[in-house]
Amino acid sequence: MRVQADTASLYPFPPKNPMTRATNHRFETRAIHAGQESDPQNGAVMTPIYFSSTFEQDAPAKPRGGYEYSRTSNPTRTALQDNLASLEGASWGLAYASGLAATNALLDRLVPGDHVVAANDLYGGSYRIFMSVFHRYGIEFDFVDATDPATVEAKMRPRTRYVFLETPSNPLLSICNIRELATIAKKNGALTIVDNTFATPYLQTPLELGADLVMHSLTKYIGGHSDVVGGAVMGNDPALLEDLAFYQNAVGAQMGPMEAFLFLRGIKTLPVRMDRHCANAQRIAESLEGHDRVERVLYPGLPSHAQHALAGRQMRNFGGMVSFELAGTVETANHVATETQLFTLAESLGGVESLIEVPASMTHASIPAAEREKAGLRDGLVRLSVGIENVEDLLEDLERTIAAAP
Ligand SMILES: *Cc1c(COP(=O)(O)O)cnc(C)c1O
Repeated sequence: MRVQADTASLYPFPPKNPMTRATNHRFETRAIHAGQESDPQNGAVMTPIYFSSTFEQDAPAKPRGGYEYSRTSNPTRTALQDNLASLEGASWGLAYASGLAATNALLDRLVPGDHVVAANDLYGGSYRIFMSVFHRYGIEFDFVDATDPATVEAKMRPRTRYVFLETPSNPLLSICNIRELATIAKKNGALTIVDNTFATPYLQTPLELGADLVMHSLTKYIGGHSDVVGGAVMGNDPALLEDLAFYQNAVGAQMGPMEAFLFLRGIKTLPVRMDRHCANAQRIAESLEGHDRVERVLYPGLPSHAQHALAGRQMRNFGGMVSFELAGTVETANHVATETQLFTLAESLGGVESLIEVPASMTHASIPAAEREKAGLRDGLVRLSVGIENVEDLLEDLERTIAAAP
């Protein structure tokens, strides 16, 4: 089966365009086939894991198959990059050692005095790399409520290079209007970057809504099995590819071939996993909303969600993440997070198994308490990554634990 791929060409120069070869296939088909072909030598159906740091050349500077050295490019990584590009409707993709390595690569393009407008409800590690690493190098950041386009517009400066968004956001699951914010960014000469980790390209394709770049922690839904760490950036502008590929080769935070293989394996089931994640999360959110010990449920699929209508337009379904607040103290939240049996108390998300955590003391502890409060992230907020187990079992686990909480 050959959907598209030309493994003999040197990736990423020149950029391949998976969409030109895969536009007649739908998402589920591209998830399984894009970027991949049976191994021409032995017929292996699965993409081989090219554990080779270097590649034979026919003459000096004439690499036989287009590959020279695996920091620069590796065939297994190329297959993943082409696959991800196809899913995001991009013409190119680059795979990194982690989601934060991908964010780092984007920030590496900035110089002192450059400015970034970022949503104030972000993955905690994104906040940390902004403020604890790049801020020291003279890059300036403003954190704003991105659900209100006017506040984003008001922060734009002549040196604003990026508008950095996460939607649905983490952990408050608010939705910002990608199309509207991308228009504001463009008008001000800035690029729009969307962290699409929570939605995945199955539910939302930011490039089609006007974003310039989309990034991922592949560690989450794309991998889907909580067994591998990686990140990626996808886009359409060949100049940005050239720039980022230069940095990736120069800096060396690229993904290894084993990880690339594991992600390709995970992506094949992304659509069926996401369908179940969404269905289970919707049921759980509705049930929690009706619970008398639950004060607030945050899930874009609930009509009570502040941006429910926007989510319905911008996304194809509402995702697998649910956050809620219980009546009571932080101890009540800690009890529930600790005592559930099927929901494992752990950071991360997006795997087939359900996880539970308390963001203020775990994933978002690196954000100062005052900033958390400003963004509306209370200490007692509980975040669920709803897995694909039987939803009745998940509901029973939550109800039993909430009933026993102090
Ligand atoms: C986990 C996560 C990241 C960071 O990715 P790593 O793979 O852990 O480096 C970035 N953004 C979001 C939304 C995440 O959930």
